[in-house]
Amino acid sequence: MSNIFDYKTLVSTKDRENIKSHKGKVLWLTGLSGSGKSTIANSLEMILNKKNLHTFLLDGDNVRKGLCKDLGFSIDDRKENIRRIAEVSKLFSEAGVIVITAFISPIENDRVIAKQIIGEKYNEIYCDCSIEECINRDTKGLYKKAISGQIKEFTGISSNYDIPTNPDIIVDTEKTDVEYCIEKILNNIDFT
Ligand code: ADP
Repeated sequence: MSNIFDYKTLVSTKDRENIKSHKGKVLWLTGLSGSGKSTIANSLEMILNKKNLHTFLLDGDNVRKGLCKDLGFSIDDRKENIRRIAEVSKLFSEAGVIVITAFISPIENDRVIAKQIIGEKYNEIYCDCSIEECINRDTKGLYKKAISGQIKEFTGISSNYDIPTNPDIIVDTEKTDVEYCIEKILNNIDFT
């Protein structure tokens, strides 16, 4: 590390953002499995894309199969998974891109680290949905498996989800519909 030096690039984040006519941001969605992160992330990205804003969606599919394919689900690996997602999100946001991340990210301290890595471009969005409703939805059939003991350390069943203490935005994905949640996010973030 001692031979690595900071080099100030000639093109700044602001220069990159100016070309895109909007700021780079990280919209960090957190919530239980089934709380609606992927649903909101996908619709939100589509709406922003239609408005000609530059976006990128990071989710389990593109991260766990590539950048983090060497990681498992131990506490240390989950922590490293979140750290890498945060570092990649930071780079994208410095390129002037609006990054939407859809990960449970259950540990408060891991989210604090993500916020430290990303800085002011970090926006924490809590998808608030009760565990009962998530079990009821069981979109991927994972709760059934977790409850019967086929999946160990499943968030909300056999491992903890730390409710965000100070999120930038809370969307109630149990009592309000997807459109309302997205409207709330769009109304609370200044992309200009
Ligand atoms: P997650 O990505 O958090 O695991 P998903 O997006 O895969 O959750 O699943 C959430 C499910 O809840 C979907 O079937 C979706 O249609 C439904 N749902 C109902 N209301 C909402 C809402 N307000 N926001 C997001 N999803 C919702």
